[in-house]
Amino acid sequence: LISIRGLKKAFGRFMVLHGIDLDIAEGEVVCVIGPSGSGKSTLIRCINHLEGFEKESSVTVDGVRVEQGAALAKVRAEVGMVFQSFNLFPHMTVLRNVMLAPMRVRGTPPAEAKRKALDLLARVGISEQADKFPSQLSGGQQQRVAIARALAMEPKVLLFDEPTSALDPEMVGEVLDAMRKLAGTGVTMIVVTHEMGFARQVADRVIFMDGGRIVEAGTPSDIFDSPREERTRGFLRAVL
Ligand code: ATP
Ligand code: MG
Repeated sequence: LISIRGLKKAFGRFMVLHGIDLDIAEGEVVCVIGPSGSGKSTLIRCINHLEGFEKESSVTVDGVRVEQGAALAKVRAEVGMVFQSFNLFPHMTVLRNVMLAPMRVRGTPPAEAKRKALDLLARVGISEQADKFPSQLSGGQQQRVAIARALAMEPKVLLFDEPTSALDPEMVGEVLDAMRKLAGTGVTMIVVTHEMGFARQVADRVIFMDGGRIVEAGTPSDIFDSPREERTRGFLRAVL
């Protein structure tokens, strides 16, 4: 579904990604772990071209090359993103937040958009919040709205960049539960996370990045129980 070849990215003269090769299959749940500054966010932001990258690199989503122009709009419609900060529209109710993109981008009729939005809010466990405004919700509830909003576009893949790291500890669990449930439904997910328990339980594959490279990748058991690389071992010692 996603194919990344020789992905290089520099900020000025500073190389942040040193030629990443990565393929992600439909339905796969991939967790990306690694130290701060290792390039995790930059990597997933390149997938929907929130960050540009070097010309010789190639990123394709469902066979479409991610670059500027019409192809980019197509890719953006198929790649949902959930950020650390929820980025909801503050002046709209929860329901409107979830209805908006399908109506604007896909031309979905309002009645259908509403039916779908209510359905999605139920899936992430917050149906009863539909008519509230984002500021009236807890952080965990807001993040679940953000997940429902991303799903409303029926994306081929959902990217998560540390979706729980801005949350109070007691709200982390409810968001991870919603994500776990989602992973069980066959949605393709790439999750940058510091939640090692989640990665171990939910990921089909774990990728450890350091210094702009994929140092090691494998099943959760490969990475957490028998890491091959010293850098992976050092990182896990520090975080577990
Ligand atoms: P964290 O775990 O702290 O979120 P990360 O692995 O997501 O880290 P990135 O945000 O991808 O790391 O950053 C990788 C490197 O690129 C870092 O050294 C960072 O300082 C640098 N960088 C990121 N964004 C920019 C930018 N807009 N301009 C310049 N340098 C940047
Ligand atoms: Mg980051």
